[in-house]
Amino acid sequence: MAFRIGQGYDVHRLAENRPLILGGVEIPYPLGLLGHSDADVLCHAIIDALLGAAGLGDIGRHFPDTYPQYKNMSSLSMLSMVADLLAKNQLAVENIDATVVAQEPKLTVYKEKMAENIARTMKLPSDAVNIKATTEEGLGFTGAGEGIAAQAVCLLRKGNV
Ligand code: MG
Repeated sequence: MAFRIGQGYDVHRLAENRPLILGGVEIPYPLGLLGHSDADVLCHAIIDALLGAAGLGDIGRHFPDTYPQYKNMSSLSMLSMVADLLAKNQLAVENIDATVVAQEPKLTVYKEKMAENIARTMKLPSDAVNIKATTEEGLGFTGAGEGIAAQAVCLLRKGNV
């Protein structure tokens, strides 16, 4: 059996009058992430990790931010479309591990729900998705609260899925 590894990284700027959506969870906070879609930085990093492992390019290739149909689109729907693409290419997800980097708000109570949303969307067992959160100790743009970043890695299995 062949395994393929992938990594993804994404950043979105925090802005007023936007919802804060991470892993499909709407989190109460005065600011939200700016972007063409719902700007779910965690889902975007995971999508890039999955596409990278599949050798299928990146999120910008599959969901161009110039296309009106992706405006304010739920990133969980994008993730679901990527899950279909992987299945079409006979690739199954072994596991996904991701970290959200945010100074605020505290994400501890939301991490499990984020992992659940992602696993359910991708039809994976719950232990196949792990979500972590950290601050950058007040350093850099995440530390200053200017934006939120996310990193993800994944392992795919090639073969009968
Ligand atoms: Mg993005």
